[in-house]
Amino acid sequence: MKNKEPLELYIHIPFCKRKCNYCDFLSFSGKEYCVWNYLDALIRDLVRYGGQTLSSVYIGGGTPSCVPLGFYDKLFACIRENYFLLPDAEITLEANPGTLTAAKAVEYKRAGINRLSLGLQSAVDSELQTLGRIHTFEDFLKSYEIARKAGISNINVDLMMGIPGQTEESLKTSLQRVALLHPEHISAYMLIVEEGTPFYDMYHENSAAFPDEETVSRMYETTIAFLGKKGYDQYEISNFARNGMACKHNIGYWKRTPYLGIGLGAASLIDETRYRVTTDLLSYLKELSYESEEKLTIKDMKNETIMLGLRLKEGISYTDLKDSFGEGFAGYTVARLGKYVEDGYMEHDYDRFFFTTKGYLVSNSILSELLE
Ligand code: SF4
Repeated sequence: MKNKEPLELYIHIPFCKRKCNYCDFLSFSGKEYCVWNYLDALIRDLVRYGGQTLSSVYIGGGTPSCVPLGFYDKLFACIRENYFLLPDAEITLEANPGTLTAAKAVEYKRAGINRLSLGLQSAVDSELQTLGRIHTFEDFLKSYEIARKAGISNINVDLMMGIPGQTEESLKTSLQRVALLHPEHISAYMLIVEEGTPFYDMYHENSAAFPDEETVSRMYETTIAFLGKKGYDQYEISNFARNGMACKHNIGYWKRTPYLGIGLGAASLIDETRYRVTTDLLSYLKELSYESEEKLTIKDMKNETIMLGLRLKEGISYTDLKDSFGEGFAGYTVARLGKYVEDGYMEHDYDRFFFTTKGYLVSNSILSELLE
């Protein structure tokens, strides 16, 4: 898994203090005892794939900020020893309020982390409780201050729409409280009720506890309008940035930049092959094993280019499609997009085709119609 061009690096930290009620990510609580063994396994794999150039690093989870002090000093010493990090590399760590301390933030800064993504979800405490988050809004404010004091100048705040009990008013409260802090970036996701989570059972017992589809659509429109007024540019379905501070790492995913995924369950895309590391913690600690390895077909690549590219506000371009897949496919795709333009779900500037807000709201069904 070596790539000649610069790669993006993703590292998965699966530990959490407590499992949230909506979460189906690969994460667990109560396994803190193997944090250091996990670090050894990460180092084992980082060394194995070393010698490559990195354009960005993203530490995601789980809750990357819940591991003890010293973890990231060691991890980044290994990364710097084995990889060439481009001077302008964006280095993000996901942190959750209630797990970030001043000493940890100083360590992050020292390790070279230059972007922090804070999982707030809501600025209303009753909604945080419903979600099963471990923190209050006050805890978030402390974490935000700690991060700024440590010198982290690029902060993202995650928010959620569609929380049980959430109203348009309470969403506005969250947006206002967050905007007052002027983070560089805000991600606003719609809650998805995933099978196997406590919310799944709750939804099937009493779906009326959740805001209905129409309300969630209005929440989304409110979010876009509110953030737009505050100077946040929407550059993707769920992502908004001030002053051009869009997340470079995630833009890389949407543009299909090759990436190396290290850690439990992590995926890589190298040389148009997708690899997935095992999701079994014990086997992972013992040795690196892959759950799957799939060489993408031209059809897969075309589908991914459209599915991922249309998530971005800039959309997909006829010229790029033509350069990558030929005139026939580019022309065919543009012809298919025409009906969405006519119905107001998309717009175009003759070369680029991109979703309108109305289109983003039904993008899942449009994207599945476009799948070949
Ligand atoms: S903190 Fe994040 S990863 Fe951990 S349980 Fe909650 S939502 Fe899942």
